[in-house]
Amino acid sequence: MTEPGPRARLLLATTNAGKIREIRQILSGVPVELIALADLSPVEPPEETGSSFAENARLKALAYAGATGLPALAEDSGLEIDALDGAPGIHSARLGGDISYPAKYELIYRDLRARGASVSRARFVCATALAIGGVIVVETRGTVEGLIAAEPKGAGGFGYDPIFFYPPFDRTLAELSADQKAEVSHRGQAFRQLREWLQQDVKLGGS
Ligand code: IMP
Repeated sequence: MTEPGPRARLLLATTNAGKIREIRQILSGVPVELIALADLSPVEPPEETGSSFAENARLKALAYAGATGLPALAEDSGLEIDALDGAPGIHSARLGGDISYPAKYELIYRDLRARGASVSRARFVCATALAIGGVIVVETRGTVEGLIAAEPKGAGGFGYDPIFFYPPFDRTLAELSADQKAEVSHRGQAFRQLREWLQQDVKLGGS
């Protein structure tokens, strides 16, 4: 009987601890070794100059694959609020600069009040891209529709989860368990597609 060779390595090209936790959970069991950026010598993050989630995911994947020589999986995600014309969108992480999430929620509630919007539809979007060398080999996308909650609720998840109300569960995403969130979230959808691709088609250069 031949021993199985070493598993192919795949770099999870993000420094966001909340994303890493969720992605590892969704991709658990895939036949690849997931490497974190923290396991490598420091890499300068690229500037996110794209004008869409997909463009930013592609540029991050290509930059990290180029800098490390590893197949690199990147994602770009964020919150689109209809009453704010889609803001903060691709600027979600940077909203208000280097301030806490509760302070970011306040900025959003302030902007909604300024527009006389007490309720707004909103969605989380997640775009992924996997680069090998200079080539994007697969891209996926997921979205989850909801409403901006009347007030922040819940202590789970990360980022804007406490202000994202998900009507089918009558809860904010921060009030869900990690499994429940992954079942319905933008990231759950996008990374389950990727999981299928990885399971069917492992061409990452392992043996
Ligand atoms: P980026 O993709 O690194 O540019 O940042 C995405 C930002 O969108 C995060 O830092 C959060 O602010 C927000 N975001 C993305 N996904 C989620 C989520 O699942 N829950 C809450 N906030 C999220």
